[in-house]
Amino acid sequence: MKAYDRLFIGGEWVASSGTGTIDVINPTTEEVAGRVPDATEADVDRAVATAREAFDRGPWPRMGATERAAIVSKVSDAIKDEMQEFAELVSTEMGSPVSWGTMAQVLAPTMIFDYYAGLAAEYPFDDVRQGLMGQVLVASEPVGVVAAITPWNVPLFLAAAKLAPSLVAGCTVVFKPAPETPLDAFRLAELFESAGLPKGVLSVVPAGREVGEHLVRHPGVDKVSFTGSTVAGKKIAAACGEGLKRFSLELGGKSAAILLDDVDIAATLPMLMPSAMMNNGEACIAQTRILAPRDRYQEVVDALVDTVKGMKVGDPLDPAVEVGPLVAERQRDRVEGYIKIGQDEGAKVAVGGGRPARLDKGWFVEPTVFVDVDNSMRIAQEEIFGPVLAVIPYDGDDDQAVEIANDSAYGLCGSVWTGDPDRGLKVARGVRTGTYMLNSPIPIDFATPFGGYKESGIGREFGREGLELFLEQKSISLPAGYTPGV
Ligand code: NAD
Repeated sequence: MKAYDRLFIGGEWVASSGTGTIDVINPTTEEVAGRVPDATEADVDRAVATAREAFDRGPWPRMGATERAAIVSKVSDAIKDEMQEFAELVSTEMGSPVSWGTMAQVLAPTMIFDYYAGLAAEYPFDDVRQGLMGQVLVASEPVGVVAAITPWNVPLFLAAAKLAPSLVAGCTVVFKPAPETPLDAFRLAELFESAGLPKGVLSVVPAGREVGEHLVRHPGVDKVSFTGSTVAGKKIAAACGEGLKRFSLELGGKSAAILLDDVDIAATLPMLMPSAMMNNGEACIAQTRILAPRDRYQEVVDALVDTVKGMKVGDPLDPAVEVGPLVAERQRDRVEGYIKIGQDEGAKVAVGGGRPARLDKGWFVEPTVFVDVDNSMRIAQEEIFGPVLAVIPYDGDDDQAVEIANDSAYGLCGSVWTGDPDRGLKVARGVRTGTYMLNSPIPIDFATPFGGYKESGIGREFGREGLELFLEQKSISLPAGYTPGV
């Protein structure tokens, strides 16, 4: 068992002001895999105070971006040295299969750290522009003290998505990981400590929702960077609105994969399925609605059912396993609840729908495909966050499919599959989501913006836009004849 008896506050390992602890339960064995202190509001107050001091008076925001990037790079290299250990740790915390997680839960975060470390040298933090009335220095400055709040589904990935750009920008950060996944966050804190991050720049305070709310409302916080559910995102937006805090939100999704009538099904499924069922279906960008033309509907369903029947479910540490357990018993209850709702609504389970017979421990649900789904059903509208797909027929032309895809409160991701990329691009332009895959298995490229339309969020992570979430622009009008040495 991995146990920590201290929190990481302002770069030091210190005792919590409270006595509460968080047990990390391995979702495969249902046994306690780790224990950490449950951070209190007073701990958050201390963390914000150190972050405030480090931002207002410390060296971090005042040093060059490339100096900061050197520390970020060191951390990335250290993660690469522990790739397998990190993949197993995350898997033990939340059930992600290592077959997927080594790449997505560990390698991807290093790519994010490396991308922002590289961007530090290129980004025009000081940009002298010819204005309408003279020269102006547009200085991009760090936004201040950042509250970074993440869910448990891709914990190290989301830590990287927030810490890499905010630290390169020169912010100081109070990071509240989800209570389900504090262990990888603490290991990351250790790596930042070893890399020489100055004191005060980073705190890691695992806790639940109430302490998260306290952090969001804290007057010492300048900017909230949140990833999580749309319900929580709305509350956070309201709280930030009251304090006029900057905020960015990465929220839920219910993405539609559109198969056009010329689709090559055999070639498409190997590219589509990893995105449909990724991370046991616990992925915001999962392609959970499969839209198939009516006259090829049965062909699509048969191929999907065949593929899903062949998926290996079991211990996520087994490299052959494709579907592991859900994060917690309550998550299994939720997913099973939706399977019942789907059946009550009149949809049919074509494969799955229950618990795998031979696994008597662990919060497993069989990968499940619903057919005869109408897009108005709850299983097509609400985020299930489990390995459950809804196959929805459409009549008529491509526009009809686009209309169904857009009939959703969410707008995070989506995909189109066709033999004609021009036709596919027209569909891609018509769907109101922040990220899209045109005959491509890649849902996110870290050098380009990612985020949600509609209730899937506000703001864009990754790419330059992801750095700009942590910058304020200051325009300094310059006297005639003066050019600053930038
Ligand atoms: P959640 O919103 O319940 O919790 C996420 C985090 O926010 C946790 O750390 C939690 O403790 C904290 N939190 C919850 N309510 C809060 C509040 N009012 N104030 C401050 N902190 C609060 O989400 P979850 O169920 O843990 O995660 C799954 C959700 O995350 C899904 O909806 C999924 O789509 C979304 N998600 C989105 C992205 C993205 O990039 N858009 C990525 C991963 C997950």
